[in-house]
Amino acid sequence: MIGSACAWFLASCAGFDGSVLVVERDPSLETASTTRSGSSIRQQYTTGINIRISQFAAEHIHNFRDQTGGDADAPEIAIRSFGYLFLATEAGAPTLREAAALQRSLGVPTRLLDPAALGAAFPAINTDGVALASHNARDEGYFDGDGMHPWWRKQAKKRGVEFATDEVIAIDRDGDRVVAVRLRSGDRIATGAVVNAAGPRASGVAAMAGLSIPVEPRKRFCWIFDAATPPEGPFPLLIDPSGVYVYPRGGAYHTGCAPEDDRAVAPDDLAMDPEIFMEKVWPTLAARVPAFEALKVRAEWAGHYAYNTLDQNAVIGPHPELRNFLLVNGFSGHGLQQAPAMGRGISELIAYGEYRTLDMSVLGCQRILSGQPFLEKAVI
Ligand SMILES: Cc1cc2nc3c(=O)[nH]c(=O)nc-3n(C[C@H](O)[C@H](O)[C@H](O)COP(=O)(O)OP(=O)(O)OC[C@H]3O[C@@H](n4cnc5c(N)ncnc54)[C@H](O)[C@@H]3O)c2cc1C
Repeated sequence: MIGSACAWFLASCAGFDGSVLVVERDPSLETASTTRSGSSIRQQYTTGINIRISQFAAEHIHNFRDQTGGDADAPEIAIRSFGYLFLATEAGAPTLREAAALQRSLGVPTRLLDPAALGAAFPAINTDGVALASHNARDEGYFDGDGMHPWWRKQAKKRGVEFATDEVIAIDRDGDRVVAVRLRSGDRIATGAVVNAAGPRASGVAAMAGLSIPVEPRKRFCWIFDAATPPEGPFPLLIDPSGVYVYPRGGAYHTGCAPEDDRAVAPDDLAMDPEIFMEKVWPTLAARVPAFEALKVRAEWAGHYAYNTLDQNAVIGPHPELRNFLLVNGFSGHGLQQAPAMGRGISELIAYGEYRTLDMSVLGCQRILSGQPFLEKAVI
């Protein structure tokens, strides 16, 4: 998703007249985060920059055809705006209040709901233990991310971008510049700039350039299930205080969670935890939404977050020690929706050496070197 976004936005950037090569080790995208994603977008973040990034994502999605070259056969990408519903206990309520105030100041119509209002708005949800909830139904919900990245690639190809099936295995430096990447096929490609869009494998690619970044693959589990009796009334993307989430997807429901022991795993380890659904997820779902007492799992899979251990936020921009090596990594579970802003931002940094639209400098690499987190508190 991120590599394709960078390719499209660079190819369509007025100030860029170079050539672009995208190197992908596995074009089936079988193990990529992108194809294992929940593919949802939200505006409810706790930092202004993440809200603005999502606002641009929504604008790009709503105007996908026009923003990707205007071809009549462009896919129509819609946002199914059922809204995210964050539930907080007493301890979490102040964070929710603070976040809602920030979101509203930026034009997001987030509503805060006390337990009575919550029960009235979403009768299927058990409000036990909930002190406060927040909900926003504008530009929040499922979208077809898998319809977007192939189109970006197709349109980028039309504008001369090349795509190679190969693997970057080494990076050649000369002082503070990258001069070439070496591929498994034996090719050596001379480079003006290199963008690391390697998802959960990003720290391995950074290490090839002698850099250390705090991004690691962490497992997240997903299940698709049918409910014997669908819940009554509207159903949002519900985030339980336990971290288990659930939302309607394609006539069924998608639920997911993190492992109890949340730690770095090997980038090819996608094994499921055989116990977690019965031990944690189902009991949580049934307690929170009694209609989910009777359900049938249809599908399950594990995927990787490219987890930024410093602050669970994206890292975008040139590395201070290697000025033409740009990172666009560490999305920690919200990279699909951030791809349009990231692609545009990378294209501006390469073409102009600065942001021309949305200034995302607060997400730059300097904070990695200084160890200063820029924390996103709403990470699912
Ligand atoms: C279970 C789950 C649910 C999620 N839900 C959401 C959601 O609802 N909304 C949201 O916005 N985000 C969500 N995300 C996060 C989102 O999917 C990711 O942030 C996003 O897909 C990251 O895209 P990417 O291109 O950076 O990484 P990837 O999709 O992993 O792509 C990286 C690519 O780099 C290639 N690569 C790696 N190393 C090399 C190399 N050395 N040479 C060549 N190629 C290489 C890989 O083969 C891979 O195809 C979710 C993630 C998971 C796992």
